[in-house]
Amino acid sequence: MNYNEVSFKAAYGTINQLPKSVRPEISFAGRSNVGKSSLLNKLFNRKGLAKVSSTPGKTATINFFTASSADFVDLPGYGYAKVSKTERQRWSGLIEGYFHQDRRFALVVSLIDIRHAASELDVQMIDFLMEEGLPFVVVLTKADKLSKSQVNRQVAAIRKQLGFEPEDPIIAVSSEKGTGIDVLKRTIEYAIQE
Ligand code: GDP
Repeated sequence: MNYNEVSFKAAYGTINQLPKSVRPEISFAGRSNVGKSSLLNKLFNRKGLAKVSSTPGKTATINFFTASSADFVDLPGYGYAKVSKTERQRWSGLIEGYFHQDRRFALVVSLIDIRHAASELDVQMIDFLMEEGLPFVVVLTKADKLSKSQVNRQVAAIRKQLGFEPEDPIIAVSSEKGTGIDVLKRTIEYAIQE
């Protein structure tokens, strides 16, 4: 995978607009404001690739990015309380609809803010990925906000909360400091080659 090559393909507001899945897909899911856009920008070293926003809950579309060996899929951030029920249902419809399609799911990157326990929606998301047998990795974001020992403690606590086996992957990252980005890239590389 050449991370110097990437382009924004399109944003899709409904499931039936999605392009046919031909290439492996690396999909990113998480609560709004978890740091999903910042992580995509960090992976490709392109500041404005995905829009970092200070107002959470804006991305109500599925955004596709074409990279050299896979498509990167930015799923709408879930769990933002200040939107209407209808809008929230639209978001979960998009996410569920995406995962129920016949697609080349190479890896789902499930993001959780390292400072908090997994929310109910995070747990639902990860339980769903496990039940469906989809390949996934849990990524804990904003690791620079905690000390090293706090990071280790949170990794262990979230592992326990999610009922992870020792082999289940969890990576602490910081888009700000670059921590964990190489490990995530290796995980993506491995998933694409499977
Ligand atoms: P998204 O809604 O999941 O796409 O989240 P964004 O990428 O827009 O980030 C939400 C907020 O968290 C922004 O204010 C970012 O600057 C901040 N943020 C994202 N990643 C990091 C990180 O690794 N470290 C720190 N300290 N802040 C971050």
